[in-house]
Amino acid sequence: MRDNIWKSYNEKDILELNDLCEDYKKFISKCKTERECVKNTIKLVETQGFKSLESLINDNLDIKTGDKIYVNNMNKAIALFTIGEEDILNGMNILGAHIDSPRLDLKTNPIYEDTNFAYFDTHYYGGIKKYQWVTIPLALHGVVVKKDGNVIDIEIGENLTDPVVGITDLLPHLAKEQMKEEASKVIDGEKLDILIGSRPIKTNDKNAVKKFILEFLKNEYNILEDDFLSAEIEIVPAYGARDFGLDRSMIMAYGQDDKVCAYTSLMAFLDVAKCKKTTCCILVDKEEIGSLGATGMQSSFFEDVVREISMLLGHRDINALSRILKNSKMLSSDVNAAYDPLYSEVFEKNNSSYLNNGVVFSKYTGARGKNSSNDANAEYVAEIRKIMDDNKIKFQISELGKVDAGGGGTIAYILANKNVNVIDCGVGVLSMHAPYEVTSKADIYETYKCYKAFLNEAS
Ligand code: MN
Ligand code: MN
Repeated sequence: MRDNIWKSYNEKDILELNDLCEDYKKFISKCKTERECVKNTIKLVETQGFKSLESLINDNLDIKTGDKIYVNNMNKAIALFTIGEEDILNGMNILGAHIDSPRLDLKTNPIYEDTNFAYFDTHYYGGIKKYQWVTIPLALHGVVVKKDGNVIDIEIGENLTDPVVGITDLLPHLAKEQMKEEASKVIDGEKLDILIGSRPIKTNDKNAVKKFILEFLKNEYNILEDDFLSAEIEIVPAYGARDFGLDRSMIMAYGQDDKVCAYTSLMAFLDVAKCKKTTCCILVDKEEIGSLGATGMQSSFFEDVVREISMLLGHRDINALSRILKNSKMLSSDVNAAYDPLYSEVFEKNNSSYLNNGVVFSKYTGARGKNSSNDANAEYVAEIRKIMDDNKIKFQISELGKVDAGGGGTIAYILANKNVNVIDCGVGVLSMHAPYEVTSKADIYETYKCYKAFLNEAS
């Protein structure tokens, strides 16, 4: 184990670290869904001179060195570019993170009433331990799209004066049978239903409690029951990020996988104003369910955009895109499972990441014999090590858990499949995929510095 990096910080480091982490806490408290991340990112980058690719094309403008471009993909993924001094054919330096996190999604026919309670039925999204999601305050985030295209934004449960919703659990007194179940079955997927009301309308109608809720939704939001057919409402833990630990060395928040890397990637990208290489930051959706779909990393979106940009830079050669990708370097900005002494049995000490030991690289992930893993080239890892050491950035290289303990994937292999040099790189997390995850402020700081150094110096 390396030294705890807090020991190496001087006063200036601590000030910088705290500034970064205070801003991060605000970001992650406000941006709990992929849509919120994209919306707030656009708001932020437009104040910094970024123009949408669409607007450049519409205005028939050329692209040149120094231009700052963003491309919004269906409000759930975004790609950002700063055009460098070198020809884009020499490749780009890319940071890619995902902005979706495990949660509960409302079903398309969600509302029902049972025994004078109104409920929202859900289908969970991503890998969760279902028992963690009961009896905690939950908030609703998302959109309802009316047939005329009008989009109604929903956010209920974040203000302290807002109501929250939640899932009930059985009292221990009556849980004798439930407690015998294995953990994956203690809470059945179909029991993840959100209690949303108990008050009936005054008439003697059937389902009077559900009707009360429907009247509330109509009056407050102009939403009808059928409108849930075209809605995306995500149920997430209510409340924002908090300092964690009596020494405030850590942060507890929902969705740090992977918004802690999305945030540090975005900040590093924006803070590297001018670069030799074209730099790129992509924030994508759907990683937690396999990166599929139009807004996931497997979509052709990214390549389409890069092709379009290279065309506008004057490259009409059919091989331009493949040359750009072949010459590009990428950090797949994603979190790693940090060593937890309470669960030492699933970690192998020499190849684990540790909180407060700096940014984590994973040469490979995968499971059952590195299956489905991107395995970064040694030559590339060597280049990265040099950049880290030259810039005095504290880093560690680890696997995700011990051999055959399980495993996981990221978006790394997807760009690697397109012939890009990619390595996983991000922040170590405790209680990953739990409603509230824990990270170290020092690791967040090192990760931000790592991403900046990478954008500036990768060749
Ligand atoms: Mn992740
Ligand atoms: Mn994950």
